[in-house]
Amino acid sequence: MPQRHVLILGAGFAGLELATRLSEIAPDTTRVTLIDRNAAFFFGFSKLEVMLGRQTADEIQIPYNKIAKANVTFRQETVTAIDPETRRVTTDANVYDDVDHLVVAMGADYDFDATPGLAEGGHEYYTLAGAERLRDALADFAGGRVLLSILGQPFKCPPAPFEGSFMLDNLFTERGTRDGVSLITTFPMRGPVPVTGEVSQMFKDGLAARDVEVHPETLVTHIDPDTKVAHTKDGREIPYDLFIAIPIHRAPEPLAASGLAPNGWIPVDQDDLHTAFDRVYALGDVCTGPRTVPKAGIFAESAALVVADDIVADIEGSAKPAPYEGSGVCYAEFGGGLVGKVEVSFLRGDAPEAQRHEPALEFLEEKREFGAVRVARWFS
Ligand SMILES: Cc1cc2nc3c(=O)[nH]c(=O)nc-3n(C[C@H](O)[C@H](O)[C@H](O)COP(=O)(O)OP(=O)(O)OC[C@H]3O[C@@H](n4cnc5c(N)ncnc54)[C@H](O)[C@@H]3O)c2cc1C
Repeated sequence: MPQRHVLILGAGFAGLELATRLSEIAPDTTRVTLIDRNAAFFFGFSKLEVMLGRQTADEIQIPYNKIAKANVTFRQETVTAIDPETRRVTTDANVYDDVDHLVVAMGADYDFDATPGLAEGGHEYYTLAGAERLRDALADFAGGRVLLSILGQPFKCPPAPFEGSFMLDNLFTERGTRDGVSLITTFPMRGPVPVTGEVSQMFKDGLAARDVEVHPETLVTHIDPDTKVAHTKDGREIPYDLFIAIPIHRAPEPLAASGLAPNGWIPVDQDDLHTAFDRVYALGDVCTGPRTVPKAGIFAESAALVVADDIVADIEGSAKPAPYEGSGVCYAEFGGGLVGKVEVSFLRGDAPEAQRHEPALEFLEEKREFGAVRVARWFS
């Protein structure tokens, strides 16, 4: 059987796992091209390490040229156009017009301009460059009001904004300056991490125990860097000395122009991650479906397993895989080495099912292992 060309756009959690899985289950029947605009991968959670100054940007990056799988070729290119009808993809260096299965795994980008004042006067740790700038700002921070605001939904990794508050509490405590710092957080949801009431309560308790002032159902729409005031949608004003944003997310270029993302994100059949186009899949942060599956690496990764099996079923004419369940294990840092754990499935039942495990030191090692296992698997 001739090899089928699988073109994967984006080498994050979803793209890396899909390429790896295809190298395991279809090394002879697939030829995989994996494209990313970057030269190296890093985990989302590593940005917290950079923000805290515990690791440098160089230390967290794993170069894609370490991928050594016989049927996988990595190319550092930027995707500039996608025609989903013909599966023709244009990059800054090539045109791909022989694609049998096209997989869009391009994640989510940020729209900083959607929040006036943010680019000039705010900080964030959702990009690597932003985490480095925030690390430097924190080093100079003499004390005052730190306002951490979620500026829109959906956003990556539901616990990550609250991990930010927990880690900042820990940082200022270790520095001996916590008494001179007020930590405030605003978010549009009714509660933090509202997967289930029990899970949300774990984060509410964490915020209360660390004396973080919480403003639920509050949307900051713009900030004024001169007066250092954040303005909310319902007309309130919240003063700050340091403003940290979870920025508004959007699908990366060139998806808007491709016709794949009519409502901002790419709609998929959540059973098998198919888009409306023949042999075109979308998975991970870039996709959306009738039911909510949060934007997190672990769900992108489990979707990749379904897509790999679906591609192989299509090539071999065999039975389709079991439907995607949106399941996985999430770790959340509570500061001081404490890590909480949530085992969750969003699509298996009629409502999300989750089991929470209280923050404990033992889960720190488990989280490290989680990262190490993936690095070993993807980059070999
Ligand atoms: C602070 C923080 C902490 C997090 N912690 C966790 C955690 O503990 N657990 C967890 O599961 N998730 C966590 N996440 C979320 C996780 O990082 C993402 O949900 C995950 O990476 C999504 O995987 P993906 O493959 O869909 O997208 P990504 O991993 O973002 O990969 C998309 C890739 O596409 C590439 N790309 C985009 N546009 C183009 C283009 N035009 N041309 C070429 N390449 C392009 C990008 O460079 C990128 O490498 C965290 C995120 C943040 C910000």
